[in-house]
Amino acid sequence: VKRLRILVIGGLAAGPSAAAKAARTNPRAEVTLFEQTDTVSYGLCEAPYAISGEVLDEKKLVVYTPERLQTEKGIVVKTLHRVEKIFPTKHEIRVRDVRSGDVVSYEFDKLIITTGSSPRRLNVEGEDSRNVFHVSSREDTLNIMKYIDSEHPKNAVIIGGGYIGMEMSESLRKREMDVALLHRHKLPMAGLEEKTRERVVEELENNGVRFITNARVDALLQDASRKVVSVHTNKGSYETDLVILSLGVTPNVALAKDARIRLGLTGAISTDQRQQTNIDNIYSAGDCCEVKNVVTGKPMYIPLATIASRQAWVAGENAAGGKATFTGAIRAIAVRVFGLEVAQVGISSDEAREAGFDVATQEITAWSKVGIMPDNSRVTVKLIMDKRSKRVLGANLFGGNGTTSRANTLGVAIQYKMTVEDVSRFDMIYAPPFAPLWDPILIAANEGKKKM
Ligand SMILES: Cc1cc2nc3c(=O)[nH]c(=O)nc-3n(C[C@H](O)[C@H](O)[C@H](O)COP(=O)(O)OP(=O)(O)OC[C@H]3O[C@@H](n4cnc5c(N)ncnc54)[C@H](O)[C@@H]3O)c2cc1C
Repeated sequence: VKRLRILVIGGLAAGPSAAAKAARTNPRAEVTLFEQTDTVSYGLCEAPYAISGEVLDEKKLVVYTPERLQTEKGIVVKTLHRVEKIFPTKHEIRVRDVRSGDVVSYEFDKLIITTGSSPRRLNVEGEDSRNVFHVSSREDTLNIMKYIDSEHPKNAVIIGGGYIGMEMSESLRKREMDVALLHRHKLPMAGLEEKTRERVVEELENNGVRFITNARVDALLQDASRKVVSVHTNKGSYETDLVILSLGVTPNVALAKDARIRLGLTGAISTDQRQQTNIDNIYSAGDCCEVKNVVTGKPMYIPLATIASRQAWVAGENAAGGKATFTGAIRAIAVRVFGLEVAQVGISSDEAREAGFDVATQEITAWSKVGIMPDNSRVTVKLIMDKRSKRVLGANLFGGNGTTSRANTLGVAIQYKMTVEDVSRFDMIYAPPFAPLWDPILIAANEGKKKM
């Protein structure tokens, strides 16, 4: 009997998950994964912590080597192989061996596209200098670490105030650099509530990061050795030894678009609940795809490893003949900004208004543990609710230890469309080292109920 040929394009997070799931679902299938770099299965999310030195051994970020994916998961892995074209009707892809330059075609019965995303560029002069880095691959991580170890930079400029900008601020401060964070809007972390964003700025500044608002970068000035020495902006110039660009990402959809695979309004690949594209036998998962927001019911683009992995399992299982579905996500993110845990689950109050909900909000600040416990801290919870359905639509939380776990609890409530009343009845733990008698979530819900 002919074996089912499953090809996977892209090998960082979604690709290996999809391939492994496919091989597990159908052990007779022949699964081959193509990755253009020399690394597969890399813990990119941990990169800021390897750079800071908090994670001592960068090699531990490699979750699976190509060899282990082959021997333990039964996948044929071809690194340094770039897929250049998809021929949907011929059921074929064209692949270039990056080392030799040879081009070979491979036939497939099922194809899974996990080409991920690429970092946004600034598009100014000097961007390709040797001390300007993105954080988006193992190569980037190693280059940053090598540069810091060999050149001992004193001043760093980070451009872009999203969550990676936050993580890198902390990371470079830990490596004893003076850090200026340039952001093009007034407040960092777009999508969070204003007060949360203000609190983030306060935490950055309390930890020695200069946060420059409404900054537009005009040029990166280089010296004779092709190093950027100064960042020119509408807000003045910043001397620097190292520049990190954290401007967000765009989905890698060129291959798919060329093959007439449908993109959604977000610009990312549109799939059904089975992660199948508009073309039979072609599936997609991860940062190259959009995802249904279960709160609004609309597609959103939110490149996260959590979503990539779950979509990948579904794509892999279905490509191998299974019947799995991925019903969507709420957006669940958290970031540590020095001593502060910041989390968002669900949609923001602005998004809720735009989506036509009748919005009410409730914000409380309470002790995270029993008040008299020594290492206690404050946690702020803001609930975003709909007055008509009484549902919780979103929440922002910030505070000390335990904030993120609380956000997860609310995340489940949001995903399963619970009302504020439901949340107020949660049977939550009370134990002095962990939580007070009335957990901050219960306090927020009890107050929030009064506004319904
Ligand atoms: C610094 C940082 C921190 C992060 N922290 C978090 C976090 O805390 N939590 C979280 O949920 N997410 C986090 N993320 C996001 C997460 O890393 C991504 O969502 C995840 O990597 C997406 O995986 P992916 O496989 O879909 O895409 P990618 O990671 O973009 O991988 C795609 C792969 O496909 C390869 N490829 C592309 N085109 C081709 C081609 N034509 N031929 C062959 N190969 C190709 C690429 O080389 C790449 O290796 C973080 C990201 C960064 C950069």
